[in-house]
Amino acid sequence: MIDSRRFEREQMVNAQLQARGIVDKNVINAMLKIERHRFVPAEFQSLAYADRPIPLTEGQTISQPYIVGFMCQALNLSGKEKVLEIGTGSGYQTAILTCLAHEVFSIEIREELAQLARKNLASYASDRLHLRVSDGWLGWPEEAPFDAIILSASPPEIPQILLKQLGISGRFIAPVGGKDEQVLVFIESTPQGMKRTNLMSVTFVPMRTGGAL
Ligand code: SAH
Repeated sequence: MIDSRRFEREQMVNAQLQARGIVDKNVINAMLKIERHRFVPAEFQSLAYADRPIPLTEGQTISQPYIVGFMCQALNLSGKEKVLEIGTGSGYQTAILTCLAHEVFSIEIREELAQLARKNLASYASDRLHLRVSDGWLGWPEEAPFDAIILSASPPEIPQILLKQLGISGRFIAPVGGKDEQVLVFIESTPQGMKRTNLMSVTFVPMRTGGAL
């Protein structure tokens, strides 16, 4: 494609991210680099860089750019980490994470979306990226511990199984709560135990319980 819509990404980064306090250079560079429109369904192409979530199939959404930037910045990634993402969806945030961490493991529960993500992510860091169709409530125990865990769907409460898969100084971020409104919870594993911070109110799609609970 000749027009990679770079100008729109620059505007997105300036107006939606930097103006609202996203300062992590690696996050900014990743969001300038990853072509969000390639993850957005054909009928929403004109909204690919808009300040809003974008519908996918089955009532799911690609998160708003600011929220992706905010959550990724909160994880404070240096490029060496092993990250677990729950809710691959379109694969947009997964692609961002491949720029920020060393290895990315991403779980999607819906077969159709997992296939879409596989297609969308075909050209991204395939040796450092691992996709799986399964129930994210269980995490990815064979690959634990993770340096960071990020949830793109909202559980009613923090899944303890996932916290157990965090390594030393591990960071966890998830929208936790009811159907219509949740709080973005950040948890850091410290030598003194898990330290929890509530960051802000958000609205995510609910996390499916699968059969795990
Ligand atoms: N970050 C994604 C947005 C995904 S929307 C993007 O950038 O496109 C939330 C996703 O979580 C949906 O694809 C949904 O199917 C998935 N999901 C919901 N419950 C899940 C579960 N229990 N395990 C794994 N994925 C789940």
